[in-house]
Amino acid sequence: MQNFESPDFFNLDDLLTEDDRNVRDTVRGFVDSNVMPVILDHYEAGTFPTTIIPKLGELGVLGATLPEEYGCAGMNNIAYGLINQELERGDSGVRSFASVQSALVMYPIYAYGSDEQKKKWLPELASARAIGCFGLTEPDFGSNPSGMITRAVKDGKEWVLNGAKMWITNGNMSDVAVVWAKTGGSDDPKSIRGFLVEKGMPGYDVREQKRKASLRASNTSELFFTDVRVPEENLLPKAEGLKGPLGCLTQARYGIAWGALGGAMACFDIVKKYAAERIIFGKPLAGHQTTQHKLTKMLTEITKGQLLAWRLGKLKDEGKMNHNQVSMAKMNNVGIALDVARVAREMLGANGISLEYHVIRHMCNLESVKTYEGTNDVHSLAIGQAITGISAFA
Ligand SMILES: Cc1cc2nc3c(=O)[nH]c(=O)nc-3n(C[C@H](O)[C@H](O)[C@H](O)COP(=O)(O)OP(=O)(O)OC[C@H]3O[C@@H](n4cnc5c(N)ncnc54)[C@H](O)[C@@H]3O)c2cc1C
Repeated sequence: MQNFESPDFFNLDDLLTEDDRNVRDTVRGFVDSNVMPVILDHYEAGTFPTTIIPKLGELGVLGATLPEEYGCAGMNNIAYGLINQELERGDSGVRSFASVQSALVMYPIYAYGSDEQKKKWLPELASARAIGCFGLTEPDFGSNPSGMITRAVKDGKEWVLNGAKMWITNGNMSDVAVVWAKTGGSDDPKSIRGFLVEKGMPGYDVREQKRKASLRASNTSELFFTDVRVPEENLLPKAEGLKGPLGCLTQARYGIAWGALGGAMACFDIVKKYAAERIIFGKPLAGHQTTQHKLTKMLTEITKGQLLAWRLGKLKDEGKMNHNQVSMAKMNNVGIALDVARVAREMLGANGISLEYHVIRHMCNLESVKTYEGTNDVHSLAIGQAITGISAFA
């Protein structure tokens, strides 16, 4: 039976385990009960719905693929992908909160951290008793993080941190920031190291960025470091060079490839229902040929994206996924999700600009999702390099 609500045109449900489906349905129910009733108010106010944070911890969706010994759920990557899909069906800002916490804070602590760092932070972050952020982007360096200016200089048993980060999700809600800084010369990206900068450390300031027209129900901040003294035990010992932060981004982009589909599926569901009910020139909008073309194109692209995400998840579970595959899935799925949202917005007519119909919120959010974690240009260049063997970045 083909499912057009929450579209599943190729019966992907059959490829999921019962546990995967349970995880998806649980998160879907959570989003319907806890996110949808409040999201419009938060979007308009430009605030994150903080009341859901402890509930996300209880649900076990934070760091969901990490081991149970750290208080995490030890799920497979398909279930993790479905969590992202369902959170973003609600709002990209909610999915971004969970993505940053899971892939950009818990993952580097797990993969690059000391035993003490893992024991101290992972159970706190999994339960949402602590919140984290990831500071890589700077005012002058986004797509090219190797140019970063932020510096850490060793002084006895401490590192002295100076610099600034910008566009940092969860920034001023965070107890801990994973901050990337150069420890060598300005032209030495191999010297990049990761530091756990804790809230309240003298010289560490955070300022929320306001007036965003996208991802409004998300906290975005600038981080400033003025002679912040970070103890040696807060250095991530197993990450050296740009591959440290890039390894985290691969994890986060994997989740985004699934998440963006959730936004697209929400827009498809809304506009399909609207087209059935809205009477235009004496018959439902859905009965006009151009509408059917648009719905067909949306469903086709969503279905292709779902297959890409599912296969990527299987490769990840088998330990065979590579970062170029993640680039393709992130680039494609966010790109098609934004196209779906834009066409759905148009099909709603004037109602399409009303937040009450949700589509324009997804559309505006997806503009950020297309830019962060590597713009589509950057992913296209990464794949181009893999195809040709020639770097066209510089
Ligand atoms: C809402 C939001 C949340 C974010 N959260 C975080 C976070 O938590 N942590 C964090 O570290 N960062 C975060 N970011 C930052 C994000 O990752 C960067 O914005 C992104 O990497 C792009 O960098 P940039 O904005 O400096 O654009 P630029 O790098 O200045 O790019 C400008 C344009 O140039 C294009 N371009 C880049 N390189 C090339 C090239 N070689 N050839 C041709 N064109 C090129 C880009 O595609 C883009 O269109 C966030 C951003 C947003 C909007």
